[in-house]
Amino acid sequence: MAYVINEDCIACGTCIDECPVNAISEGDIYVIDPDTCTDCGTCADACPTEAIHPA
Ligand code: SF4
Ligand code: SF4
Repeated sequence: MAYVINEDCIACGTCIDECPVNAISEGDIYVIDPDTCTDCGTCADACPTEAIHPA
């Protein structure tokens, strides 16, 4: 399992700085690499639009 970012992402960049394993990539909507994500949940807590949830 990994966390996923949905269409509520406003590309603010907050989550990228919070991820301890650098699993998040920039884009129009940010993307989490499921093979790298360790399911820690830190990014979900930091997201201002609650766009990140467990898959
Ligand atoms: S913190 Fe939330 S809104 Fe900001 S880039 Fe990450 S997923 Fe998108
Ligand atoms: S849940 Fe943790 S490891 Fe996975 S993308 Fe978010 S901050 Fe990174």
